[in-house]
Amino acid sequence: MLGTGSVTLVGGGPGDPGLITVAGRAAIETADVIVTDRLAPLAALAWARPDVEVVDVAKIPGGRSTSQADINQILVEQAKSGRHVVRLKGGDNFVFGRGGEELLACHDAGIQTRVIPGVTSAIAAPALAGIPVTHRGLTQGFTVVSGHVPPGHPESTIDYAALAASGTTIVVLMGVRTLGAICAALVSGGLPADTPAAVVADGSLPSQHVVRATLGTIADTTAGIKPPAVAVIGDVAQIAGLTDGHRA
Ligand code: SAH
Repeated sequence: MLGTGSVTLVGGGPGDPGLITVAGRAAIETADVIVTDRLAPLAALAWARPDVEVVDVAKIPGGRSTSQADINQILVEQAKSGRHVVRLKGGDNFVFGRGGEELLACHDAGIQTRVIPGVTSAIAAPALAGIPVTHRGLTQGFTVVSGHVPPGHPESTIDYAALAASGTTIVVLMGVRTLGAICAALVSGGLPADTPAAVVADGSLPSQHVVRATLGTIADTTAGIKPPAVAVIGDVAQIAGLTDGHRA
């Protein structure tokens, strides 16, 4: 019989390998196989064993991105062959990282699975720009949404009017392309156009940059910005406790 393999979902943090947890690093150091993709902090692979097999599912021949079903199958097959597999993702695997799907696929296949949470860019990118997602006296919560599809898109399930009225800080991931439409929907929902807003791109990386504007102007101000970037909308976005470009 083959040895017992396992899958460990490791949250890699926003990019700087210093922002991976101690448990995440230990899992990387002992892995037989590391399955990575585009936003995973690749510098952390330097901690892996010299004989580790790295499978970059963003680079597998036949397409820029491997289908989720194929990724699940890679995880299950590798573990079934007795290997310890680390699934390394950017941020936290369960925040727009399909970690839930991978966990269920491994569970269904009877694979021993562990989850090591990561530092999500939803909180870390604003934090690295000196923007707290909550702040006593300013907001009692924050809401994280995906901007992958714009408001009004048939696949969008977000109630932007409710979001505008929520009184929480709004954090938008995957929203570089759709930020204009999202801001317009929030203004239509009653959020004042002069609400502070900021965009943090490449959070924690040497190329980190921060743009501050308002809900009404942030999309135009950040027109040239490339992903990955997080948008923060709400009174906290005017807090500037750190100079732009500060890193962990
Ligand atoms: N699981 C990840 C998010 C995956 S979705 C996490 O928890 O962070 C990908 C989106 O995350 C990007 O489009 C961007 O909005 C955000 N993101 C990831 N890394 C980032 C970084 N270093 N700086 C700013 N935004 C980042």
